[in-house]
Amino acid sequence: MFLEVEQVGFVYQTPSTETEALKDVSFRMEEGEFVSLVGPSGCGKSTLLSILVGLERPTAGSVRLKGQSISAGSGTIGYMPQDAHLFPWRSVRDNIALGLEIQKKMDAEHLDAAERLMKRYGLWEVADRFPGQLSGGMKQRCALIRSLVTDPAFLVLDESFSALDYQTRIAVSVDIRSIIKKENKTALLVTHDISESVLLSDKVLVMSKNPGSIKAVHDLCMFREISPLERPEQVEYHATIKRIWRELDANVST
Ligand code: ADP
Ligand code: MG
Repeated sequence: MFLEVEQVGFVYQTPSTETEALKDVSFRMEEGEFVSLVGPSGCGKSTLLSILVGLERPTAGSVRLKGQSISAGSGTIGYMPQDAHLFPWRSVRDNIALGLEIQKKMDAEHLDAAERLMKRYGLWEVADRFPGQLSGGMKQRCALIRSLVTDPAFLVLDESFSALDYQTRIAVSVDIRSIIKKENKTALLVTHDISESVLLSDKVLVMSKNPGSIKAVHDLCMFREISPLERPEQVEYHATIKRIWRELDANVST
């Protein structure tokens, strides 16, 4: 199994309060899967991501990636935030090299891999430009390639498309997903957008709050061979969105 999250619990402690942010969270991911995590604000999505990237240790349960427990800075996990977080004074090429610099991998082999990825995904022509000269979609591509050059086993995307306007969000998210699939990466996307999760994913995890736990798992096996942009033509697509919407709605009213 690629990722095993077993009965993970997390409690935030302050001198006067305790917040149980996660309780009994269990799920699994297979290698190559694209999974989304949807849930209301405050249900513990960011807490779970901090545990997955090794920034926090669970107060209960365990997380194993390819059989190993996760530690911060191991370089096996790539992170793509909401905002592309590109440095405006660095060119596209130098922004992409940043991940290699941090991980001290600025050798010929990795720099070649960076050039190859830029060529394959249309960034080579703009490699000398600065982020201010790129569209929102190209910025996200640049952020993705920056995390791919270090060849992470697992990619974590935290609301990576929410900052984009509606018109470009679908195109960009479909584009990013297709690159992740072509590169055979395994990815977990946190989003509050239900249709985005059903459009892009192989599996959707629905979370509820107080304390945060997995309320439902939707295996979208019927869509595995159907590309994102063809999914809205399927009756099952709309039915699944409705089901998740109801699950989340029940969450809010209880
Ligand atoms: P989400 O990302 O789904 O909005 P979070 O993981 O940020 O949820 O938060 C889950 C719960 O933990 C919330 O009740 C939040 O108030 C609480 N929480 C988050 N961070 C802290 C912290 N540093 N200290 C105390 N409580 C926290
Ligand atoms: Mg959050």
